[in-house]
Amino acid sequence: MKRRSLLAAGSAALTLPAWPLEFAAPHPPAAMRVSTDRIVDIAVGIRPFRAQGPRIESQKRFGKTVIHHYGHGGSGWSLSWGSAQRALALLQASGAKPGERVAVIGCGAIGLTTARTLQQAGHKVRLYAKDRPPLVHSSAATGLWTPDSRIVASEHASEPWMVSWEAMARASFKVHQGYLGLPSGPVEWHDGYVVSDEGFNAPLGGHVGEPDYPDLAGRVADLRPQGKAMAADEHPFRTPHVRRFTQLVFNIPAYQRLLLDDFARDGGELVQREFRSPREFARLPEKCVVNCTGDGARLLLGDASMTPVRGQTAHLVPQPEVDYALIYRGQNVVALPRRDGLLVAAMGEHDFGNDDLRPDRAHSEDAVRRLARLF
Ligand SMILES: Cc1cc2nc3c(=O)[nH]c(=O)nc-3n(C[C@H](O)[C@H](O)[C@H](O)COP(=O)(O)OP(=O)(O)OC[C@H]3O[C@@H](n4cnc5c(N)ncnc54)[C@H](O)[C@@H]3O)c2cc1C
Repeated sequence: MKRRSLLAAGSAALTLPAWPLEFAAPHPPAAMRVSTDRIVDIAVGIRPFRAQGPRIESQKRFGKTVIHHYGHGGSGWSLSWGSAQRALALLQASGAKPGERVAVIGCGAIGLTTARTLQQAGHKVRLYAKDRPPLVHSSAATGLWTPDSRIVASEHASEPWMVSWEAMARASFKVHQGYLGLPSGPVEWHDGYVVSDEGFNAPLGGHVGEPDYPDLAGRVADLRPQGKAMAADEHPFRTPHVRRFTQLVFNIPAYQRLLLDDFARDGGELVQREFRSPREFARLPEKCVVNCTGDGARLLLGDASMTPVRGQTAHLVPQPEVDYALIYRGQNVVALPRRDGLLVAAMGEHDFGNDDLRPDRAHSEDAVRRLARLF
């Protein structure tokens, strides 16, 4: 609100600053308290990577329509809603009647958003899942809007594929906006800083076994404010190269809880069940099944096109005064100001092709120490 309109509103109790509000300088970022004794939890999850991109495909099997919907790599939360709209379109094309009950298998980011999208289109939905939040891989996600993270290998990123990805990213972004401004804060905008010791043109070391990824970010660059290089006197970090960016952050526990609550409120049922073979789909009462099993599809379907990519995030004691993200380029560390804690994620050299779910505390402590050097 501009100064004039505040005065016009006649709010006598308001003390106005001497400068016009539109020119007020942003407050300096509060220092992150990053020390290993503040680590209160370590979560490990698997990104379901497919070099060809996510599998969103309809099949007739066991006398049913089976829609496969998995393989969203490091972009599952970001792309979820747009991807769910694709799954819905396949369901509608299969001849499913409005109001018909549909089975969704999986209760991660993809299963939950698919279930909600089907409900909003008028379907009754029964969710079947081996595990539910917080025990799903999606619960271990960092929570940045990263629709281009490990989503496809360069060799499979044809122009039609990228056009379709862009439409999915834009559709998803639009739905995420509808979750802003809610009391539990499932989705929030935050500033962030990419910092670097060597400069932004210095080459980044790859990880063992990783393919090349296409540069997709430019296709959706208009969806968020432009970044800005910052001079030494404009930031408090102990590193010479700093750029500011602005990005959507997902408070994952709040988002999952809200989706589960909305799902139940609209009559959704959640059944705990593990499928050991796709033949078990045949025994479900629903005629249409949407398979959102993420990395679970690798085992359930024996899908050799899937590669597990391990990821580990440390939760530090929440610091509500920290409202910015940090990406430490060249050090592989990301820190996020989530409501449930200050999150510190670090990629390991051998995470690609790795499905080891055991936490490695030394790895997180090392990431926290590297981050601490900035303050
Ligand atoms: C460390 C890390 C950081 C990440 N950061 C981000 C980020 O910042 N932004 C972003 O957009 N994405 C991020 N991701 C990626 C994102 O989390 C994934 O793309 C997403 O979790 C995939 O969701 P999903 O629902 O497909 O899989 P999952 O979350 O694994 O859910 C699969 C569901 O299927 C069920 N299931 C599996 N097999 C069976 C079976 N046989 N029978 C019954 N049920 C079964 C499971 O129990 C579960 O309910 C990150 C991932 C990790 C690991």
